[in-house]
Amino acid sequence: MATELKVQHVTENSFDIARQQLRAACEALNLPSGVYEILKEPARVYVVSIPVKMDSGEVKTFIGYRAQHTDVTGPTKGGIRFHPNVTLDEVKALSMWMTMKCNLVGLPYGGAKGGVVVNPKKLSQRELEQLSRGYIRAIVDAIGPDRDIPAPDVYTNAQVMGWMMDEYSKLAGCCSPGVITGKPLAVGGSLGRNEATARGCVFTVREAAAKLGLDLSQATAIIQGFGNAGSVAARLLNELGVTIVGVSDSQGAVYNPAGLDPYALAEHKAATGSVKGFAGGTDVDGDGLLEMPCDILVPAALENVITAGNAERIQARIVAEAANGPTTPEADEILFRRGVTVIPDILANAGGVTVSYFEWVQNRMHFYWTEEEVNQRLERMMVEAFCKTYEMSREKQVNMRLAAYMVSLDRIAKAMAARGWI
Ligand code: NAD
Repeated sequence: MATELKVQHVTENSFDIARQQLRAACEALNLPSGVYEILKEPARVYVVSIPVKMDSGEVKTFIGYRAQHTDVTGPTKGGIRFHPNVTLDEVKALSMWMTMKCNLVGLPYGGAKGGVVVNPKKLSQRELEQLSRGYIRAIVDAIGPDRDIPAPDVYTNAQVMGWMMDEYSKLAGCCSPGVITGKPLAVGGSLGRNEATARGCVFTVREAAAKLGLDLSQATAIIQGFGNAGSVAARLLNELGVTIVGVSDSQGAVYNPAGLDPYALAEHKAATGSVKGFAGGTDVDGDGLLEMPCDILVPAALENVITAGNAERIQARIVAEAANGPTTPEADEILFRRGVTVIPDILANAGGVTVSYFEWVQNRMHFYWTEEEVNQRLERMMVEAFCKTYEMSREKQVNMRLAAYMVSLDRIAKAMAARGWI
């Protein structure tokens, strides 16, 4: 589990933003009004109360949510976050974005999201396990390998998924690894899952660079956030010849125009808890780092970090959104006008859910792939999703975000029509 309580809780009006994005894409595609009408609210929302006997002997209840946005293209899929700021609207918005992400990549899923209002850092391991199992007991009738398949999200991890899979299996009366993804390898997790988000993101950067004629061996990158997504993205970009000139985390930032060694930086962070103070670079201001010279900017930490306040000063040619929601709608317009290629979150970070899908497929087949097979399949699906989005943006003369929504909604609308919903 991450050590700081900071990453990514979406702004209060996130559900309004999600609806606006949905409406804009429906209008751009001239879809029948029924598409927006059906998708503007999740199909099902569960609100549950989870009692936990704390170590003190006291009983405390926690509020949990699960939103299942639509199952028009398959069972629903999406993570569970444990965070004190979780709200129902946030969970609903995230479930809608999961629908868009899954359909953009062509996964046979609709979107879902879950959350529990809790600060997990204040729980003992025993309390955390009881809460994880209690959440599953509360929503057991709503989930299942053919119904709704949860996964990790902010402040939940493979161990939490292991407990949840176990609780569901006990209640179902059979071992059911396909009910949840992001599990430890020992209970049906997939090779390559840990690196999947960053790997998928780097595939999209590679494709965007080729379209722009940007030679990656001469290119520079700045990465905001040096956690799961950011640190692996730094390493994989470096392997492609990109010079990593700047990296930040919640404590600070380092910069070196001659290049930072991502392996040494990871060792420094493991030893000290932060990238700041790294001997191979100079400490700089974290916010200012986003505006420093580079070809590729990878926000891999928080939402709403590229805003109307700094978008004019972003110098990168490519912004690859490993994080969810790092760019505000106003900033999006500014970057589009300035000719910056933004690879939107639902495309750039779709590698995570794609390998979760592979995990589910392997669980259902009881046959497991090598890491090489996982990575090859991931590459094929990410490149295809990138190309479809890029072509749509060219054809309709819209930014990559709207184009990604349009590709996704086109697929959803076809499924709705085929099922007689519209
Ligand atoms: P993480 O907790 O492993 O890492 C987050 C990093 O961001 C940490 O290094 C933290 O120090 C840093 N950070 C926090 N505040 C910061 C600030 N103000 N400035 C700079 N850095 C700051 O989380 P993660 O799993 O890498 O997720 C990062 C983002 O990627 C989130 O938006 C998440 O939703 C998104 N994402 C992750 C996955 C995945 O599989 N891990 C999948 C899809 C999307």
